[in-house]
Amino acid sequence: RNNGTLLCAPVMAESVHKMLINMDKAKQEGADLVEVRLDSLKSFNPYEDLKTLIKECPLPTLVTYRPTWEGGQYDGDEKKRLDALRLAMEFGADYIDVELQVAHEFNDSIYGKKPEKFKLIVSSHNYQDTPSVEELGNLVARIQAAGADIVKIATTALEITDVARVFQITVHSQVSRVPIIAMVMGERGFISRILCPKFGGFLTFGTIESGIVSAPGQPTMKDLLYLYNFRDIGPDTKVFGIIGKPVHHSKSPILYNEAFKSVGFNGVYVPLLVDDVSTFLRTYSSTDFAGFSCTIPHKEAALKCCDEVDPVAKSIGAVNCIIRRPTDGKLFGCNTDYVGAISAIEDGLRGSHNISNTADSPLAGKLFVVIGAGGAGKALAYGAKEKGARVVIANRTYDRARELADTIGGDALSLADLANFHPEDGMILANTTAIGMQPKVDETPIPKHALRSYSLVFDAVYTPKITRLLREAEESGAIIVTGLEMFIGQAYEQFERFTGLPAPKEQFRKIMAKY
Ligand code: NAP
Repeated sequence: RNNGTLLCAPVMAESVHKMLINMDKAKQEGADLVEVRLDSLKSFNPYEDLKTLIKECPLPTLVTYRPTWEGGQYDGDEKKRLDALRLAMEFGADYIDVELQVAHEFNDSIYGKKPEKFKLIVSSHNYQDTPSVEELGNLVARIQAAGADIVKIATTALEITDVARVFQITVHSQVSRVPIIAMVMGERGFISRILCPKFGGFLTFGTIESGIVSAPGQPTMKDLLYLYNFRDIGPDTKVFGIIGKPVHHSKSPILYNEAFKSVGFNGVYVPLLVDDVSTFLRTYSSTDFAGFSCTIPHKEAALKCCDEVDPVAKSIGAVNCIIRRPTDGKLFGCNTDYVGAISAIEDGLRGSHNISNTADSPLAGKLFVVIGAGGAGKALAYGAKEKGARVVIANRTYDRARELADTIGGDALSLADLANFHPEDGMILANTTAIGMQPKVDETPIPKHALRSYSLVFDAVYTPKITRLLREAEESGAIIVTGLEMFIGQAYEQFERFTGLPAPKEQFRKIMAKY
């Protein structure tokens, strides 16, 4: 264990009986404590129920009775609510959570008398936004002044950069020895929940089942423990992540976190739902944020943010990998997509997985049709050209196809014209658009009849592994190469750049085979 941050499972259920079952599950799954959300109970008899819940819970308890005016479900009498919380304290709850607005009232009612070891959490929830650092600092001070043993602030992320201010407050509180729970709610606040042990947060919440959350954006305990290796995250852990929008479908966190762990590298890899790359990179500018993968739609914008760009990435016009130099924090961008995709296609043509074959590329002289002219399209077009193929770009927006074709020295088509394009047999087709990606798995960029002219079809989409395009290509007799092969290929390269260690290639294949 690399940190003292606790893992708390919120327990929400309609009955005491169900709560007890969930408490057992929480313990089995590895929680350190549970948050008993009294406001989720359908009927509640404070004396009996609190006694049972607190005495029978196999873990330490944090009791919360959240009113509707603070985002909870209780809309009854305030006095009764505070009475129940006081009772919970008397029955031996380890923590209770009291909202800032009523903290003084609660403290007055107990005449400052608290059982030994008991801790009072005073909380404030902001469902609109995340205020400035100054305002957050003032809020923490007010919560402390209200008699908190532990401060809790939860705000809402409108942008992922909002989380940086909450990290700053967490670090500051730690320096001044104020235990703090600081969470940023919502999808864009996700990293606040994973990275809090790095910054010294008191606890984070992890759910027992996915989808059943007590606040937006909570991960499951399983993901915290086994996907993000939560217990291993400490102050020196380097942060990596995939910058994208959307990004939740990405398998990269699974791959890198498992590989980091297996080679004993002190790093964590998180999904980064980013709206604006340049603001993101400027905000998270410390060398602790050590490297990033980039995906849709940010690969081109990311290139412009780098201080130095690898010449191949520059010609492609897109970077999918950014490394922050530990010495001066400068950003170096490169493109590992093209190596991954092209070697996977070459392997497909050679009929083997032996990447070390350095003889002439089987792509030389072939007619290579690329669908799409975005980041991946450019990478494939550039890579195929390098290998001596004759390249044709087909894109929905013809002008973008034309521009790319002119840059690399190839031909251009509109996507609509692709169905009737068959100058010769034995061509190679590479889809680099998101057409056919989950959830729209019934879509395909080209009608089936046109696939007869191709000897190999590649699809950059890797969710699902076999897209409609690949299924129909196989039915038409073509060799197929999946986006998974490209994904693994580009990941080898990134892993080595991130860690300075050789990538565990076979493990990559094994991990990805599970998905
Ligand atoms: P991008 O830069 O945003 O480019 C998107 C391209 O797709 C553009 O050419 C766009 O055409 C076209 N497009 C998008 N939606 C379309 C639609 N509904 N109909 C027709 N054309 C459409 O994205 P990217 O970074 O190149 O990524 C593209 C795909 O490759 C994604 O599915 C991504 O997951 C996949 N990818 C896979 C790997 C891997 O390792 N397997 C690596 C990188 C990317 P317009 O120019 O007309 O807008």
